[in-house]
Amino acid sequence: MEELMDFDEVAANFDPVLGLEVHVELATTTKMFDAAPNEFGGEPNVNTTPVSLGLPGALPVVNKKAIEYAIRLGLALNCKIAESCRFARKNYFYPDLSKNFQTSQSDEPIAYDGHLDVELDDGEVFRVLIERAHVEEDAGKNTHVGGEGRLQGATHSLVDYNRAGVPLVEIVTRPIEGAGARAPEVAAKYVQTIRDIARAIGVSEARMERGNVRADVNVSLRPSPDAPLGTRTETKNVNSFRAIARAVEFEMCRQAAVLSSGQAVLQETRHWQEANSTTSPGRPKSDADDYRYFPEPDLVPIAPPAEWVEEIRASLPEMPAARRKRLTAEWGVSEMEMRDIVNADALDFISDSVDAGASPAGARKWWMGELARYAKDNELALADVPVSAADVAELDGLVQSGKLTDKLARQALDGVLAGEGSPAEVAASRGLEVVSDDGALGAAVDEALAANPDVLEKIRAGKVQAAGAIVGAVMKATRGKADAARVRELIMERSGQA
Ligand code: ADP
Ligand code: MG
Repeated sequence: MEELMDFDEVAANFDPVLGLEVHVELATTTKMFDAAPNEFGGEPNVNTTPVSLGLPGALPVVNKKAIEYAIRLGLALNCKIAESCRFARKNYFYPDLSKNFQTSQSDEPIAYDGHLDVELDDGEVFRVLIERAHVEEDAGKNTHVGGEGRLQGATHSLVDYNRAGVPLVEIVTRPIEGAGARAPEVAAKYVQTIRDIARAIGVSEARMERGNVRADVNVSLRPSPDAPLGTRTETKNVNSFRAIARAVEFEMCRQAAVLSSGQAVLQETRHWQEANSTTSPGRPKSDADDYRYFPEPDLVPIAPPAEWVEEIRASLPEMPAARRKRLTAEWGVSEMEMRDIVNADALDFISDSVDAGASPAGARKWWMGELARYAKDNELALADVPVSAADVAELDGLVQSGKLTDKLARQALDGVLAGEGSPAEVAASRGLEVVSDDGALGAAVDEALAANPDVLEKIRAGKVQAAGAIVGAVMKATRGKADAARVRELIMERSGQA
C-alpha cells in the first residue's frame, strides 16, 4: 500500500491542479464513418461493416448527424466552432483498434475556447475553461479471459468491434486552478454538468453505467498557486461521479506523500481501482507521445456553414441549470431538496411523471423513495427500473383520488415492478382498492362493534377517541383496504355520535 497524506494536510500544504478529458458517446443511429448501427449491447461483432472492422480498401464517410451533435455540444459548452477542421490519423497498435490508427482531430478541433459554470453543493459556481472539444471514433472492446480479467495473467483475449467507430466528442479542459480542497467535488460536478447538458440537448444518452460518458482525470500538485504547474498523472476511464471525486482525492493524497518524502511524481497514466477506491500505475506517458498524427487522406475537411451553426444554436433547449431553477420554483422544493433530486439522478423521471399528470410531491416521493430503494437494492440505474413516468403518474392519481392508501399503493408498485401491469391493473388483479362502499364497510363496522361492546359503551359515553380501536379492527378485517375516514364516520353514525 502506498503512503498517503491526510487530505486536510494536503489541502493545507499543496495547491491541486486538475485537467479533465471527458469522452461523450454520441447517440447517432449509425457510426462515425460508416453505416453500421450504433447500438449498445448485442452479440459481439454484429454491428460492424468493413469500415469499422478496418478491412483493406474500406473507405470512411463522415456522419453528418455526428458533426451536428458535436457542434451542438460545442455550442452548449460556450465554445467557438471552427470554420474548417480536418480529421487526422492517430497511429498506435492495439487489438481493439483494427485499423492501427484512430481517426481523430488533433490540432484542428471542431470546437474550442469554451467554458462551463459548475454549481457546487454549497450553491457556489465554479467556472471551468474548456480548451477544445473534438470529434473522434471509439475503439472496440477487449475482454481478457482467465486470470483476473486483466491482460496480465489472462489465457487469451476476445475482441468485440461493436463499439469500434462509435462517434465520440472528447472535451478537454484547460488546467483547472483554484479549486483547492474542493478539487474532488469540482471534478465530479464538472463531469456531471457535462452529462446533464449532453442529455438535455439530446446528443447522447449519457449513461455513466454504460460508459457513454468517461473521464480521464489529470491531477498535479504544486506548493502554492504562484508556483509553476507540477507533474501530472492521468487516471484513465473513470466512469462514475463518485469515482471521479475519489480518484482526485486519492491522487492528491498519494502525490503529496511522494513530494513530501523528497521524491518526484512520475508522469504516467494510472488505473482506477473501484474495489478499494485507489489508483495503480499504468504506463509512463510523456507530453510528446509520438502518435505520428497526420491528416486523414480519405476524408475531406469539415467546413460547417455559419448559417447551419446558427440554426443549431437557435435550436438549443433550456440548459439544465436554468431548468433546475425553474422546477425548484414550480415544484415548491428547497434548493437542498432539488440538489438531492439531482444527485439521485431523479430529476428527469420526476419531471416526466409530473408532465404525465402526477403531483410534484407524489412524483418526488415515489422516485426518491421506493424506486430509488429498488434501484439500489437491485444495483440498477433509475432508468433501468421497470416503471414508467406514466405508471408513477397513474399511481399518484390513485392515491390522490383516495382509491389507494399509501400502503396499498406500495403493494401496487410492487406488482408493477414484478411485471404484473400498470398500477391500476395491479390494484384490480390483486384486489387492492380501498373499500369505501358503505355496504361492505358497514358490515365490517357492525361486526367490530359487536365484538367490542365495551368500546361501543365508551364511544356512546362521549369518549370518541376510543373509536380508534374499532377503526383498527376494521382495517385488520379488510387487510388494510378500508377507507379509514369513512369507517370513522360510520362508527359515529352507528354509535349515535354523528
Ligand atoms: P494527453 O494527450 O496527455 O491526454 P491532453 O492535452 O489531451 O493531454 O489533456 C491533458 C489534460 O491535463 C488537459 O485537460 C490539460 O489542461 C491538463 N493538464 C495539463 N498540464 C497539467 C498539469 N500540470 N496538472 C494538471 N493538469 C494538467
Ligand atoms: Mg488526451
